[in-house]
Amino acid sequence: LTKKEEGEMIRRANALENDGIDTLRKVSRQEYLKKREQKKVEELRDEVLDNLYMFDGVKLTETEYQDQRNKVELVKLLEKSVQPDDINEYRMPEAYDQEGGVNQDKRFAVAIQRYRDDGAAEKMNPHGEQDAWEDHQIGKAKLSFGSKNKKQASDDYQFVFEDQIDFIKASVMDGDKFDNDLSPDALEELEAKTGLEKLQEDRKTLPIYPYREQLLQAVKDYQVLVIVGETGSGKTTQIPQYLHEAGYTKLGKVVGCTQPRRVAAMSVAARVSQEMGVKLGHEVGYSIRFEDNTSEKTIIKYMTDGMLLREFLGEPDLASYSVIMVDEAHERTLSTDILFGLVKDISRFRPDLKLLISSATLDAEKFSDYFDSAPIFKIPGRRYPVEIHYTRAPEADYLDAAIVTVLQIHVTQSPGDILVFFTGQEEIETAEETLKHRTKGLGTKIAELIICPIYANLPTELQAKIFEPTPEGARKVVLATNIAETSLTIDGIKYVIDPGFCKMKSYNPRTGMESLLVTPVSKASAMQRAGRSGRTGPGMCFRLYTAYNYHHDLDDNTVPEIQRTNLASVVLSLKSLGIHDLLNFDFMDPPPSEALLKALELLFALNALNKHGELTKVGRRMAEFPLDPMQAKMIVASDKYKCSDEIISIAAMLSIGNSIFYRPKDKQVHADNARMNFHTGNVGDHMALLKVGRMGALWLYIPYRGLSVFVAVRSMKRARDIRDQLEGLLERVEIELSSSPNELDAVKKSITSGFFPHSARLQKNGSYRTVKHPQTVHIHPSSGLAQVLPRWVVYHELVLTTKEYMRQVTELKPDWLVEIAPHYYQLKD
Ligand code: ADP
Ligand code: MG
Repeated sequence: LTKKEEGEMIRRANALENDGIDTLRKVSRQEYLKKREQKKVEELRDEVLDNLYMFDGVKLTETEYQDQRNKVELVKLLEKSVQPDDINEYRMPEAYDQEGGVNQDKRFAVAIQRYRDDGAAEKMNPHGEQDAWEDHQIGKAKLSFGSKNKKQASDDYQFVFEDQIDFIKASVMDGDKFDNDLSPDALEELEAKTGLEKLQEDRKTLPIYPYREQLLQAVKDYQVLVIVGETGSGKTTQIPQYLHEAGYTKLGKVVGCTQPRRVAAMSVAARVSQEMGVKLGHEVGYSIRFEDNTSEKTIIKYMTDGMLLREFLGEPDLASYSVIMVDEAHERTLSTDILFGLVKDISRFRPDLKLLISSATLDAEKFSDYFDSAPIFKIPGRRYPVEIHYTRAPEADYLDAAIVTVLQIHVTQSPGDILVFFTGQEEIETAEETLKHRTKGLGTKIAELIICPIYANLPTELQAKIFEPTPEGARKVVLATNIAETSLTIDGIKYVIDPGFCKMKSYNPRTGMESLLVTPVSKASAMQRAGRSGRTGPGMCFRLYTAYNYHHDLDDNTVPEIQRTNLASVVLSLKSLGIHDLLNFDFMDPPPSEALLKALELLFALNALNKHGELTKVGRRMAEFPLDPMQAKMIVASDKYKCSDEIISIAAMLSIGNSIFYRPKDKQVHADNARMNFHTGNVGDHMALLKVGRMGALWLYIPYRGLSVFVAVRSMKRARDIRDQLEGLLERVEIELSSSPNELDAVKKSITSGFFPHSARLQKNGSYRTVKHPQTVHIHPSSGLAQVLPRWVVYHELVLTTKEYMRQVTELKPDWLVEIAPHYYQLKD
């Protein structure tokens, strides 16, 4: 308070006191106290309300005020380029105008909504808040007592939630014996330590630690080593550090470690830099597509397998590395499989290069056989028994079943965190909202549930949240994609919920069509998932399918990606590495030769290869872009149509996937309206993306018809980064940045130059038929052209959900097909 305000308060308090004395004559002391309390609260409230809408010393109406705050917050957002907790920006304002946001005043961005929800409400009723908090604390205490008593707890559950799922316990997955477990005393001692010291102690408790010397000896003795160890044993975080400590990074040589997933590379690098007490990006760094967080100093480098593949293009003998660790080898991603062949090859002429192939599953013989009988180093596991539960009957809606199960566990089971596997970002966001919604207002009835999503597009700062220890009395629920199956280990997980699905690429080599679809996991995956619950103590896994399903419907193992994907990208990379004889490349599991031929055919159609299968100038340029060949071709072609500026923006927007628009579950109609604003004139989804990209820089200042609420700020920032990098690459392949702002057709022709194999023609019944290999497809409902149904379209990708959908669609003229790809399409007369 200022001096003046303080004086005013004192004056008012005195007045109250006098008033009280006056009143005292007429009422009892208790009544007096009650009245005085009431009066204070009222006065306080008035005062707060009085000051609530002051802005820069001027009193405004609520609306004006919100508008001002809105602007300030948004400018701050821009300057900070968004801090961690801004994910709340997605929360919807209540006063959204139904007519599509015409009345700008009514709408305010979410940052300000948060201000109102948290800040102002608290100020207005401090007592209420305090009470709620106390009740909550008491509730928590009650629950942890109650949860010891199963009967009572399950009554609680029924009291709080209605639906319930009936599980049957079917089997127990045995744990492993281990002898380096710590006594409770030792653990307590550990708790007491802090910071770096604690991290160093923690490192010593990992299952791999007792084998440090033996492992280093084995690396010294053999050039290639296969390492097998249960997830969480310390392979990824420790081995590169051991190698560094043993001198493998002397003379600036780098220990490289590949990960199939971006998030894993980032998160593990962050962890290791912490353990080593260095800044991320200095001695320890990571490199993923469009983001290189390494420096001259970097000696331990985590990267995606795809990035190492690209590094081969610049440095075919990987001279800067002393060790390459191909981690998560069991995942058998396309890039990992290709890396196997490449590293095996260079190991022959670089005897000083050490190769480690590490895997979380026990079928290591196959890796050993492939690498000329390399020795296998097993790190004994440390796993507790896991109880497996199945549902009695199949669940119709696994998303809903998963949510019900989370709540069921939360209310009836003893403390311990929950891990749920979903197939992707959209599902996770829906689950997060539903969980928040269902637990909202239950405040004191249930303990706090901390919801932590994790998926590839989740901003880095939020990724760290899943590793934060759960506070006493609360429970954490991690909503994860497959990434938590083996790539990331989260401590403290006691319950796993496995709906039994994952998203997988499927490819039809005959038609060359690829689509993403939700498929049942393999038995091997289901076992890995269950295992995640038994790391720190006995665990439980709830499978949202029946035991019959498990035994009869699931495949034993996941098919390696190389056998179910489009190989065009890999073939282009191999060709630019000078590897021509693809049919005789040393594959661990060769792809179907049909798929290889299809890739060659596509690259030929794109003009990347000539008819002898040699790389052309176009192909050489395309290979510079870390993009799928059709996208790369779209960019290279934009040179001819003088619109490279527009096209790299579109490519950048396409690269960030579907995370640009946000559709809150309860506001989908509004979100869709806001989004349709970009489709004015039926310009097509690509142009709409371009417009969003262009607005990106502007919308913070000029909220555009509700847009500010629905476009994810972070995704936009990422898109701008990617665009900048693409611009750099343009320069490298000597393509000038050119723009044709009014030539819509120029942009569409560039898109068609890359995506002509993805063209489709309207049928009488409103569906489409793909042109080259006829197949029925539909425009995805989220497309701006879903209602328009142009006669001819070109699409970015196919997704199979209830139907085969084309996502990101633009209209084209059929004669362009003949003009652009005469050898691929011919006119029928
Ligand atoms: P593995 O590669 O054998 O599966 P990791 O080296 O990834 O094992 O994990 C070893 C330990 O390090 C685990 O206990 C895990 O919880 C911890 N850890 C890994 N990454 C992080 C992180 N980003 N933050 C906190 N702890 C982590
Ligand atoms: Mg690992």
